Amino acid sequence: DERLSDEQLLADPAEKIAAVRGSRHPSIPLPADLFGAARKNSIGIDLQDREILAGVASDIRHARVTGQEAQGHDDVAGVVTRAVSGFAGWSATPLAKRAAILERLADLLEAHRGELMAIAVQEAGKTIPDALGEVREAVDFCRYYAVQARTGLAPVELPGPTGERNVLRHEGRGAWACIAPWNFPLAIFLGQVAAALVAGNSVVAKPAPQTPRIAARAVELAHLAGVPADALLLLTGGPDTGAALVADARIAGVAFTGSTATARRIARSLLEEESRPLVPLIAETGGINAMLVDSTALPEQVVADVVTSAFRSAGQRCSALRLLLLQEDIAGRTLEMLAGAMDTLVVGDPADPATDIGPVIDRPAYDRLMAYRESMRANWVKTVEVPRQGLFVPPTVIRLGAIEELRQEWFGPILHVATWEAGALDETVARVNASGFGLTMGLHSRIARAAETVEALARVGNLYVNRSMIGAIVGSQPFGGEGLSGTGPKAGGPNYLHRFAAERVTSTDT
Ligand code: GLU
Repeated sequence: DERLSDEQLLADPAEKIAAVRGSRHPSIPLPADLFGAARKNSIGIDLQDREILAGVASDIRHARVTGQEAQGHDDVAGVVTRAVSGFAGWSATPLAKRAAILERLADLLEAHRGELMAIAVQEAGKTIPDALGEVREAVDFCRYYAVQARTGLAPVELPGPTGERNVLRHEGRGAWACIAPWNFPLAIFLGQVAAALVAGNSVVAKPAPQTPRIAARAVELAHLAGVPADALLLLTGGPDTGAALVADARIAGVAFTGSTATARRIARSLLEEESRPLVPLIAETGGINAMLVDSTALPEQVVADVVTSAFRSAGQRCSALRLLLLQEDIAGRTLEMLAGAMDTLVVGDPADPATDIGPVIDRPAYDRLMAYRESMRANWVKTVEVPRQGLFVPPTVIRLGAIEELRQEWFGPILHVATWEAGALDETVARVNASGFGLTMGLHSRIARAAETVEALARVGNLYVNRSMIGAIVGSQPFGGEGLSGTGPKAGGPNYLHRFAAERVTSTDT
């Protein structure tokens, strides 16, 4: 029996944390082996990492996969009723215990790492490094929010006139709807759920219809960790189910990651009924993410970071690079080197540790991406061969005449490239901003002033300088955008939990 008693759950979390090797961050333990492999995968994996990946591949082969069928519910109103009744008990559970349960869940995720990775590979087509990163990030979210909750959600005594006591408390709001995407079917799914739960809410969690199994397993583990069954309920289904969930006036808040169009529909739905309470929506949506490269950038590093940012995870990350903006003088050579690097990409079976890029999520996504790619054939700069069988979209670079030609996010391994002239950095950033999206931006330059300029002008949530622009790390790179890219607050950041909580102040004459 993996269940812990209350005493065990509450036993010295610092000791538990210290026991985990390789912590980069005192409050966020990151097992060194997971961290290393997840950071260095893709092109140029060194021998040591390959060994790690081979070990993981064997873990995956030997994993006993349970929870084959997602045991969800499809009765939306019934599920909400249960979550509403579960709220009373869970919100009265002490904060310290809720935080300890998240840490217990993190332990269970680590203990079931092989199995979870196996599901991520089978169900979402994740490569092994991506599956590893997926589990690692889910663990980080649980541990980070546990730590943040203990300090950030504790009652605060505020100054006031003599003879008066003022206390600010943070309490659960009610039953939250957490609606997750398929591209991080464990990490984002559990990140939303963990935050809502630790803040004292009960949760109806709706995974994407493409990835219900890993979500079902995560919910089982959360229950095993000590989350009561009626404080966390899994709701499986497609867009209609999601729409019915947010339309239920008893839902006290929504955390959503997905498209801008769906976020807009949710916002409308939350406001529709006259008598409905005004409830928060935390939306994390897409982006048309650009990377600017000037003539002082280090070409080898640019190429490596472009390949990672645009093609890793088959480009199926909100953060992924969509628009490479090269200073005219270096464009030819950079594209030549990029083409060479793309020829070394291994596209294929995600369960093979040598694979860099796996399939895209499903047939509709494949058809959409392939049709768009085909429509741009005249502008291809580079593409690569991929296996014929399977949903493999060939990584492709498409040249544009102007930044403004790219009007929407293409969620796959398709990179657009345009050029800018020396001296036009400010104007180029302004033109990128004009898309209205504001998620990630990259800059490669060795001129400090250029970085300062872009930092001052860019209207994005995450700016990456002289590195890749994906793979935000919980607690180090709080993630999320602005404008068409989302509402904030940022996941994995110090301000996230507060949006999930009701703030109440009691002022007492003493
Ligand atoms: N946090 C992920 C990253 O930094 C992206 C999340 C998403 O795709 O929604 O790559």
